[in-house]
Amino acid sequence: MKRYQLRIAGQWVDPAGGAWFESQNPFTGEAWAEIPRCDARDVDRAVQAAHAALTGGPWAEMTASQRGLLLHRLGDLVARDARKLAATEVRDNGKLIAEMQGQLNYVPHWYYYFGGLADKIEGAALPLDKKGYFAFTRKEPVGVVAAITPWNSPLLLAAWKLAPALAAGCTVVLKPSEFTSASTLEFVELFDEAGFPPGVVNVVTGLGKDVGSPLVEHPLVRKVSFTGSDATGRMINEQAARQFKHASMELGGKSPNIVFDDADLEQAVFGAVSGIFAATGQTCIAGSRLLVQDGIHDEVVERLVALAKTARMGDPMSMETQVGPVTTPPQYRKILDYIEVAKNDGAKLLLGGGPATRPECGKGWFVEPTIFGEVKNDMRIAQEEVFGPVLSIIRFRDEADAIRIANDVRFGLAAAVWTRDIGRAIRMSEKLQAGTVWVNTYRAVSYMAPFGGYKDSGLGRENGQEAIREYLQNKTVWINSGAVAGNPFVMR
Ligand code: NAD
Repeated sequence: MKRYQLRIAGQWVDPAGGAWFESQNPFTGEAWAEIPRCDARDVDRAVQAAHAALTGGPWAEMTASQRGLLLHRLGDLVARDARKLAATEVRDNGKLIAEMQGQLNYVPHWYYYFGGLADKIEGAALPLDKKGYFAFTRKEPVGVVAAITPWNSPLLLAAWKLAPALAAGCTVVLKPSEFTSASTLEFVELFDEAGFPPGVVNVVTGLGKDVGSPLVEHPLVRKVSFTGSDATGRMINEQAARQFKHASMELGGKSPNIVFDDADLEQAVFGAVSGIFAATGQTCIAGSRLLVQDGIHDEVVERLVALAKTARMGDPMSMETQVGPVTTPPQYRKILDYIEVAKNDGAKLLLGGGPATRPECGKGWFVEPTIFGEVKNDMRIAQEEVFGPVLSIIRFRDEADAIRIANDVRFGLAAAVWTRDIGRAIRMSEKLQAGTVWVNTYRAVSYMAPFGGYKDSGLGRENGQEAIREYLQNKTVWINSGAVAGNPFVMR
């Protein structure tokens, strides 16, 4: 069993309380690593280190171009270690090696892209209504960032935060999910190799209440960047607001995947399967509600069930596997509970509907790919995020009906439309309440394209040039070119 340590100020250290907890492999169910169980004392050490690096020393003195160069070097090191880091993630979260390998090969691009943006952060000279002044704006780093990540894609989602935060000149304390901390603890060492000064990036591990909460609460943290569930996000956002901290929230979804009767049905069915069953449904953007127009409903259902039935389940380390285990035991139980709720609420079970007991699933936490038909949009299975391989199919009549159903949830992360009618695609993309709308595709994401939620799916944007603004604050500087004159007691 491998025992990990914390990374604070460029040093490996033991947790203050001298306690560790075990991380389990979702495929074998076996514990394979010991993760430091931190508390508020470790959080304080990490935040103090980040604050010291922000306010003095080499990082604070560096030019933006030098920061950009370090991010490029970091990207190269992630590319070099992608295979090893992907294997650690699979061991920890049970996602497919076929996916994680591709994902880790893609992660360096976040560091390249934001490394390139680092020295393109510009203030502006201001046009003014007052004579005798020159004024300009400066964009300054917002301060120490608390970055809190979930278990589904630890290093990808960390990159979405770290790359813009560091490009902006911030320093970071990163807290990965207690279920998947190992890859982050391996990755953090690369910062030293790339040449980042100590304290610029620190990692603390442990439970949300023991570590995440004191991190959000710490007075030296000025920005909280969170990805996770809406329930935790709401709590953190309230906590951050009490100290007027900046906050961005990437939360859950209940995304509609809408198929019109003029769509290429083969493509649409492919998109429906990848929308819900990729990553065993454990993605924030999962297309968990499939809205199908009346005229093609039965054909789509038939094709979809036929394709979903072919899913190969089993060892996530095999390149052949298509559906892996669920990452955590609580998540496994939650998915099975939702399946029962859907059955009791009258949804029609078309496929799956319980734990997978196939021999190739071994002792892993597997759920059969599950499809419910005749779902009504007010059922819990259509309103609440399951975060598992469970699809709800809902019928609709026309565009207006599709929009009404699609928007009738409290989430608004993503939506997709399948149609050959360009006018319809434009109308739908205007009316859907979602941070991302795809037309005739599902799941496309890029470091260059802003990503984030409407409604309860979150606040702020990650990726693209927008993301860097989340880590900057604006300062206006006024310079008087003449003498100070007039009545000093009257404001001009
Ligand atoms: P979670 O909310 O349970 O945990 C996320 C992180 O918050 C973990 O590191 C956890 O330890 C920490 N945390 C828990 N309680 C805390 C507290 N009181 N204070 C501070 N930190 C605390 O989420 P999860 O189960 O790890 O991840 C799944 C969720 O993440 C889903 O809802 C999914 O939709 C969402 N998600 C969103 C995106 C996105 O970009 N919008 C991406 C991936 C996942």
